[in-house]
Amino acid sequence: MQYLSTRGEGAAVSFSEALLAGLAPDGGLYVPAAWPRLEPRDFNAATTLSQVARTLIAPFVAGDTLEGALEAITADAFDFPAPLVAVPGAGYSVLELFHGPTAAFKDFGARFLAASMARLRAPGARPLEILVATSGDTGGAVAAAFHRRPGIRVAVLYPKGLVSPAQEQQLTCWGDNVQAFAVRGSFDDCQQLVKAAFVDTALRARFDLSSANSINLGRLLPQAAYHAATALAIWRAEGRAASFVIPSGNLGNALACIWARHVGLPIGEIVLAHNANRTVPDFLAGERWQPRRSIATLASAMDVGDPSNMERLRALFPEFATLKAAVSAEVVDDSAIRRRIAGDFAAHGMIWCPHTACAAEVMARMPAARRTQSPWVIAATAHPAKFREIVEPLIGRPVPIPQSLARLYERPSASVPLEPRLDALRDAL
Ligand SMILES: *Cc1c(COP(=O)(O)O)cnc(C)c1O
Repeated sequence: MQYLSTRGEGAAVSFSEALLAGLAPDGGLYVPAAWPRLEPRDFNAATTLSQVARTLIAPFVAGDTLEGALEAITADAFDFPAPLVAVPGAGYSVLELFHGPTAAFKDFGARFLAASMARLRAPGARPLEILVATSGDTGGAVAAAFHRRPGIRVAVLYPKGLVSPAQEQQLTCWGDNVQAFAVRGSFDDCQQLVKAAFVDTALRARFDLSSANSINLGRLLPQAAYHAATALAIWRAEGRAASFVIPSGNLGNALACIWARHVGLPIGEIVLAHNANRTVPDFLAGERWQPRRSIATLASAMDVGDPSNMERLRALFPEFATLKAAVSAEVVDDSAIRRRIAGDFAAHGMIWCPHTACAAEVMARMPAARRTQSPWVIAATAHPAKFREIVEPLIGRPVPIPQSLARLYERPSASVPLEPRLDALRDAL
């Protein structure tokens, strides 16, 4: 399998090349040059999540250096469950994607990428330095996934004083091969610094530099696996195609679900639940594509005004009519998020994080006729304990902390203060 840039320039590359490069040289995103075709019966022997992942991803790594290691990589990355839980009295189910080390769905993609990159290092090669600028959530998942991977170091750059204490702990609690830098500046300063580092000859002479962005194919593709496993479980149980509501920001999680359906998994509707950042819903409603600055909302991991994966979605469905038939999108503002968190706890005993609450709100608004057409699943993208300061006042009680997070909170934390200048970063690495 070969991969091409969405912008159509440059040569086709292999899976591992796409994974190590992150972005294509023309600034586009990598997409498969051809689509494999799979049917539910191709998964007959796959009973666990990691086996479904292996069957699904196998045609995408066919002929690649990583092909022989795929079984080990999927076993390594998918070593925690993604249970499907019925919401009592609500007529839909929730796919819990928050049982990984940092209690959010990004753990799946980050772990697959880390497991793959670790296997691409030749013994005795120069160290691989992964540089990550983070405004909070992504950095934790990447740091956790790469922690103690031999031959790889991670530098996480975050804006000092601008992330929550819980987020800071998730960035700074690792040690070993993970360094956390508290940058005296904004998130944009952190991003600028990472960008400058990538083109710095002095740094390039010392390290192989790579990123672990969410647009990386190695993070995107594995996210198709839990949608596939869920759709297969429902297909086997009731012979119907499941439909999904997915809390969306940069569209990585939703696009993975669309890719799963595209290769042949039994998936019906896919609905994107956005917060007040309405670029995608407005576009699907017929307005022209108009990226904008992001607005801060309660569902902060979805505060994206210019979603990069739209480029991949439009590459898959170049015709507007086909794109509109493939996905729909809704806007959920902060007041609706608050009401939904309080209301669903009272009505169903479920505690949502603010992102998951957007999907629950979309379900609540759905007319009964559409709701009964398909078994509906909402994706729970983070554990509510990660957003206690928002959730607890709304439900009037403490949110139980899962073991994964409790373990992180117990670890000692350490970070290095850093001025937002390239020479300071050079010295610190
Ligand atoms: C990143 C994130 C999202 C948005 O996912 P995308 O793939 O960017 O659309 C939603 N919820 C949580 C908790 C996240 O961390």
